[in-house]
Amino acid sequence: MQGEVTGFIDHVVTLFRRPAEQKGVTLTYTVDQFPDQSYIFDADKWEKILTNLIANALKFTPSGGTVTLTLAPVWVGVEMNGIQIKLADSGIGIAADQLPHIFDRFYQVDNSSTRAYGGTGIGLALVNELVGLLGGTITVESQLGAGTTFYLTLPVKVMSSTTSDVPKISWSVPKSSSVDHS
Ligand code: ATP
Ligand code: MG
Repeated sequence: MQGEVTGFIDHVVTLFRRPAEQKGVTLTYTVDQFPDQSYIFDADKWEKILTNLIANALKFTPSGGTVTLTLAPVWVGVEMNGIQIKLADSGIGIAADQLPHIFDRFYQVDNSSTRAYGGTGIGLALVNELVGLLGGTITVESQLGAGTTFYLTLPVKVMSSTTSDVPKISWSVPKSSSVDHS
């Protein structure tokens, strides 16, 4: 997708406004100053990443709690080449010995038959895979009983007349047929 990054994320957050309200969790979305420019980013993967993380934050945060999403640009000189996302919740938290496993497929902190929360334990495995495919990073900090914070960086490309015209199929030009501009 080509377009404005913060507007797209705003749209994703909007999908969670009603569920948050119904649960009695305060959902806050804070955006730093962003350059007024269009970027190329993989909206489909971004949406899957964000919906899984926000859904988890809401699921594991009891009524009266908070979920806060903060966005900031990542700069390379004067150009933005990525976006930093912080998602903090005041929920149940994750014990230190469980934390290294949460990105494993089918891993759930409470996997007992009397488990209080739904799901199958694949959300974060998918998130981790998608972030990797995009060339981004994800880390997590948590304190049992106090809350969890995920930190992400996702790359974006500046949209220019040349990058928007990149052909879908690429081929290599044999040396002998290349044009000599000298
Ligand atoms: P699914 O995403 O497949 O519906 P799930 O939410 O249980 O199921 P993941 O999203 O992969 O699975 O998360 C794995 C586990 O990590 C969760 O079951 C939960 O124990 C823990 N976890 C993830 N996010 C949070 C969070 N924000 N707060 C507390 N625990 C979390
Ligand atoms: Mg999940």
